[in-house]
Amino acid sequence: MTAPASQPPDAPAASRASSSAACCTGRHGFLAGIAAAALAPAGSVAAQTFVARLANGKRIDVHHHFLPPQYIKEERERINFGHSVPPSQMAAWSPSQSLEVMDQNEIATAVVSVTTPGVWFGDVAAGRRLSRMWNDYAAEQIRNHPGRYGLFAVVPLPDAEGTLKEIEYALDTLKADGIGLLSTYGGKYPGDPGFAPVFEELNRRGAIVYVHPTLAACCGSVMPGLAPQAIEYPFDTTRAITSLLINGTLAKNPNIRWIFSHGGGATPMLAGRMAETIGHRENAAALMPHGVLAELRKLYYDTASATSPASLAALRTLAPISHILFGSDYPFVKAAAAIEELGHTPMPDADRAAIERGNALALIPRLRS
Ligand SMILES: [Zn+2]
Repeated sequence: MTAPASQPPDAPAASRASSSAACCTGRHGFLAGIAAAALAPAGSVAAQTFVARLANGKRIDVHHHFLPPQYIKEERERINFGHSVPPSQMAAWSPSQSLEVMDQNEIATAVVSVTTPGVWFGDVAAGRRLSRMWNDYAAEQIRNHPGRYGLFAVVPLPDAEGTLKEIEYALDTLKADGIGLLSTYGGKYPGDPGFAPVFEELNRRGAIVYVHPTLAACCGSVMPGLAPQAIEYPFDTTRAITSLLINGTLAKNPNIRWIFSHGGGATPMLAGRMAETIGHRENAAALMPHGVLAELRKLYYDTASATSPASLAALRTLAPISHILFGSDYPFVKAAAAIEELGHTPMPDADRAAIERGNALALIPRLRS
C-alpha cells in the first residue's frame, strides 16, 4: 500500500486549481476535458494544463464515513443521526453510493472513519467485536476499490487494553492509515490518564490520530430540540483538544499527527482565550512547554462544515495552510456546497489545491494515485 518511491512529488498545485475552476467539473466535464486535450495541439496551453491536472489528480477527502450494513443492522436502535440522514437512506448505504458521490465531486480518494456513536456502548466484548467487524469491512472495501479509500481504524476506547490490540491489528495487519477516535467516551476526554498507554503506543508508532466529535454526556439536552450538529459537536471537539492540552498529552506525544474534524470546532475562534487562561495555569510550563498556540498550530484540521468565510478565516489565521485538509463529512453533508464555498474563498490557487489534495498526500503519501 506504499507509494512507489520513484513517483514525483505532487506537482505544483496552482495549475490544478486554476484548471479545475475553468473546466471539467463533474464526470461529463472531466471526459469532455480529455476530449478537448486530445484535440488540442500538442504543447498548447490547453493540453499542458489538462495533462498537469491529470498528473496532479483530484481531491483527497479525509472526513468520509462508512456505514457498514452489519454495523447498522446491529446498532440501528442506538444510532441517531437526527434528520441529517433518514433511516431509509442509512439502511440503503453502500460503497457504490459513496463512490458515486466521490466521482460527482472529483474526489479521488476518501479516508474512511466511523462516526458518532462509534462502537462503545459499555460492553468490553461487544466493543472489541464491533471494532474488528467495522475495520475488516472497511479493509475489504479498500481491497475491492484500489486507490479509492484509506482507513482511520476504529478502536474500542475507553477499553485501553482492547484498543491497544486493535491498534496493532489495524496498523500492522490491515495497514490502516491511522486511528480514528471520538472526542469523548462516556464523559472521559482523550487527555484522561487512563488513555495514556494508548497515546504512548500511537506516539511510538508516529501514527495519525483522527478525532471526530460525538455527543458529550453532559450536553445532549441543554437546549431541547436543537440538533447537536449545530453547536455541540464543534464544542466537543474543542473540549477534546483542550483535554489533550491541559493534560500534556500533545506535548508528551510529539510524534502523533493529530487531525481534528470541522476545523477544530470552536478552537480557532477561542485560541487566544485558551492561551490566556489555560496557558497560565500553575503547571502549564511543564505540560505545554511550547505554549498553547504552538501546540494548536501543530495540529491538522479538516474543512468539513468549516468552509464559511468566517470559519475558514479563523482557521487560516490559527493554522498553517499545510495543516488544513479537505473533508466532506459524507454522507451527512453535501460535498458540492463545501467545494463551491472553498472555491469562492479568496486565496492563492496553490493554497486551495494544497487544502484539497497536496496536504493530505504529504501526510499520507500512499494515497497518491
Ligand atoms: Zn463526520
